[in-house]
Amino acid sequence: MPRKLPRNSQDDFIPAYLKLPSEEIDKRIARADNILTSCRLCPRSCGINRKEGEYGFCRTGDKPVVSSWGPHFGEEKPLVGRGGSGTIFFTNCNLGCLFCQNYSISHLGEGAEASFERLSSIMTDLQSRGCHNINLVTPTHQVPMILKALRMAIEGGLCIPIVYNSGG
Ligand code: SF4
Repeated sequence: MPRKLPRNSQDDFIPAYLKLPSEEIDKRIARADNILTSCRLCPRSCGINRKEGEYGFCRTGDKPVVSSWGPHFGEEKPLVGRGGSGTIFFTNCNLGCLFCQNYSISHLGEGAEASFERLSSIMTDLQSRGCHNINLVTPTHQVPMILKALRMAIEGGLCIPIVYNSGG
């Protein structure tokens, strides 16, 4: 399906996720989802089953948990451009750095569970607001959920680059 690029995107840039066949994306989602059953998403290797309500170091289950989102103008200039970087701040973290600048989000769990549909609509909304990219802030412990939402967002016309903005 032809995709309409947002006003500020470079016309010749195609994000890697749009080059993957949908079957391949589904395979990767399934593989990522399976990791949650004995979680080794990050080097903490907690080995707990997040799909059965168990929690590891990051205190996060198998649903997206989001603190805030919006165009961000404080990131590096190439990410911000004119329309801003479309940040999505994910709640909790697998790192636990005491000096974290997002302490209330990463340590204190500020945020709320969101449906996959909601996370997907946040992505497409950021695009329609003119953001140049989707900037996933602290995504590592939520990658399987992000992939599921991304799949829906692609169906909804998402076509801007993704920034994997991790502390590690
Ligand atoms: S993502 Fe969370 S539960 Fe999984 S290994 Fe890392 S800290 Fe543990």
